[in-house]
Amino acid sequence: MKFQLLPSTFDENGCASPKQHLACFVVDDCVAIDAGSLAMASGARQKKQIRDIVLTHAHLDHIAGLPLFIDDLFAALTEPIRVHATTEVIQILERDIFNWDIYPRFSELRNDAGAVLEYRPFEIGKEFSVKHLNFKSASVNHKVPTVGFVVSDCKTTFAISGDTAEMNEFWEAVNKEESLDAILIECAFPNELEGLARDSHHLTPKSLQKEIAKLQNKICPVYIINMKPMYLDEIVSQIADLKIENLQILEVGRIYDW
Ligand SMILES: [Zn+2]
Repeated sequence: MKFQLLPSTFDENGCASPKQHLACFVVDDCVAIDAGSLAMASGARQKKQIRDIVLTHAHLDHIAGLPLFIDDLFAALTEPIRVHATTEVIQILERDIFNWDIYPRFSELRNDAGAVLEYRPFEIGKEFSVKHLNFKSASVNHKVPTVGFVVSDCKTTFAISGDTAEMNEFWEAVNKEESLDAILIECAFPNELEGLARDSHHLTPKSLQKEIAKLQNKICPVYIINMKPMYLDEIVSQIADLKIENLQILEVGRIYDW
């Protein structure tokens, strides 16, 4: 299974920076989890193949590239872009993004081949298929309705938390898995911003440590995602201080082969 975090932020030379403002993960060049930088950073093959986008929640840094991605491909689509999300997230997208004011309501528009945007609602806790992948969703603990996923192609299984603070249902779902190849979990703020992390329902290295202790599989690699770019150096240093084996930062742009 190929897995890639698309870049979203660039340094003064125009090269991808490890500082990430947006979240967009691509599996096997054909399924996106969140769409923060999907329009801006996907390659030609990905633009041609990605027609399924699975959303954790509707915060801007996770959906910013979605309207632009559909817009770019509007005339070329021979099948609709399928957005897999909870009903609550779909309602937010229709009310606040695809409302004709912020962007066109693509769900009402068609090109020569037919619909360009189709919603595929899923129920939290139930399994659903997206292309060759099986998704299981679990509630996490964020300021708005948010889910994490356990994703499998039968050979490889990984879990991704989405944005979250301390959580239990996600770990229950993860700990049911017999084998796990990777876990991706957020850590948005450094320890000194614990109050802000609590108010906005995010993790710090200190609270991350308690979360990782809930994982029963002690040999599975754990990758950190969603670090606020302005605090990246502090967060990375504090995560290193935890001295947890198998814990590493997910590299931007790198194609992982799990
Ligand atoms: Zn969020």
